[in-house]
Amino acid sequence: MRGFSTNAIHAGQEPDPTTGAVIVPIHPSSTFAQDGVGGTRNGYEYSRSANPTRTALQECLAALEGGRHAFAFGSGMGASDVLLRVLVRPGDHVVIPHDAYGGTFRLVDKILTQWGVEYSTVDLADVDALRAALRPTTRVVWCETPTNPLLGVADIAALADVTRGTEARLVVDNTFASPYLQTPLALGADVVLHSTTKYVGGHSDVVGGALVTSDDGLAEQLAFTQNSVGSVPGPFDTWLTLRGVKTLAVRMERHCDNAERVAEMLAAHPAVAQVCYPGLESHPGHEVAAKQMRRFGGMVSFRVAAGREAALAVCAGTELFTLAESLGGVESLIEHPGAMTHASVAGSALEVPDDLVRLSVGIEDVDDLLEDLRGALTRIRS
Ligand SMILES: *Cc1c(COP(=O)(O)O)cnc(C)c1O
Repeated sequence: MRGFSTNAIHAGQEPDPTTGAVIVPIHPSSTFAQDGVGGTRNGYEYSRSANPTRTALQECLAALEGGRHAFAFGSGMGASDVLLRVLVRPGDHVVIPHDAYGGTFRLVDKILTQWGVEYSTVDLADVDALRAALRPTTRVVWCETPTNPLLGVADIAALADVTRGTEARLVVDNTFASPYLQTPLALGADVVLHSTTKYVGGHSDVVGGALVTSDDGLAEQLAFTQNSVGSVPGPFDTWLTLRGVKTLAVRMERHCDNAERVAEMLAAHPAVAQVCYPGLESHPGHEVAAKQMRRFGGMVSFRVAAGREAALAVCAGTELFTLAESLGGVESLIEHPGAMTHASVAGSALEVPDDLVRLSVGIEDVDDLLEDLRGALTRIRS
């Protein structure tokens, strides 16, 4: 079996057979010439159904996640929507993490419930809590690990043991880890979801999503539903994502190097009450993370001892860390989840602490990042 980076650079990306172009071309064509009525060439007829640039990205992502089938979407939420349309019907029940990505919570809480779907929020770090939450009607257990923004860790293999033999499918949102750090299908998950907007694309220049599975029947339903609802990415977007993914391994190594240093600095800083980073031995999910992840990722959250206003001041006080939503790009970002990414879960079971700051640690020189954060923390204390 080929290595991760060899797949990232070559899977689905043979030199173009007609021109020899080493890089997969952007195929903007919406339609493809047919060799007679009903006779498609190479399976392409209309770009909503299939497009060669998209096929290249899908084959690459399937190889990286160790799955048989991958589907690329116009966004992570587009991928989630198609997956849930396939997996649930009115009257069904869905389990989502108690600190789910805000957009996932909104999709389930505001859209799915309109169609008679019920849901529970569960701390999936607690396998017994999942067991207790399962109902005969549960069709989906939706897991994120590490979670956003509290970096909670769920034991994917243990969750798979619970869902196996039930009618619930285990979905893992692998956005935070990326396939370089964690491959949930190998641990027993049924489907992997990505917002490729984040680490997979890696350069904050394209929005996209993906689903990967080895279940042939499920893949057939996903293909049918994606084509039916038209939730597809454009060829330039898929090409940008494909360009980004080639360097995923080297970027992730550097994200992890930098995040480890940032987490250590914060853990020792008097203005910081708590650091959430699975790489710290003090993190309750450290052992599980060490077992199922190659390294611990580029996301770090921390609670500011002096409270909400001080946390907002830290977010406003950095120079290199840009105040912005999103994550996983080469540049470092800082945000206040309570007022930004997770504002939509305020007042719900998913509400996050208001003194929490989330960092997406980029791949800049780490000494500059440490100095930037130390400066912002010092200024709130003066
Ligand atoms: C961003 C994100 C999503 C949604 O993806 P979009 O590309 O923004 O639609 C889903 N899950 C997680 C963990 C995310 O960070």
